[in-house]
Amino acid sequence: MKKKMVPIQVPPNLMEMLDNWESCPDENVGWCLLCDGPIRSAQDLIQNSNTHNCPEGLRLELCGKRPGR
Ligand SMILES: [Zn+2]
Repeated sequence: MKKKMVPIQVPPNLMEMLDNWESCPDENVGWCLLCDGPIRSAQDLIQNSNTHNCPEGLRLELCGKRPGR
C-alpha cells in the first residue's frame, strides 16, 4: 500500500477566486474554491475534513475517497 497524495484540483479561474477572496468584506478563515465563497469559521467545514460545508464540498467528500483520479 503506497501513500497517495490527494490530488488538488485547481480551478481554471483560481486567480479570479483569489480576487474575490481579497475583496470579500466578510470575516473569513479561508476561501472555498468549490463554491467560490468565504469559509467563515472552522464550523463552516465538514467535520474531520478541510472541506467547506457546502453542496459542492459535500459532494467532493462523498466521492472524494474514490481510488484513482
Ligand atoms: Zn464551498
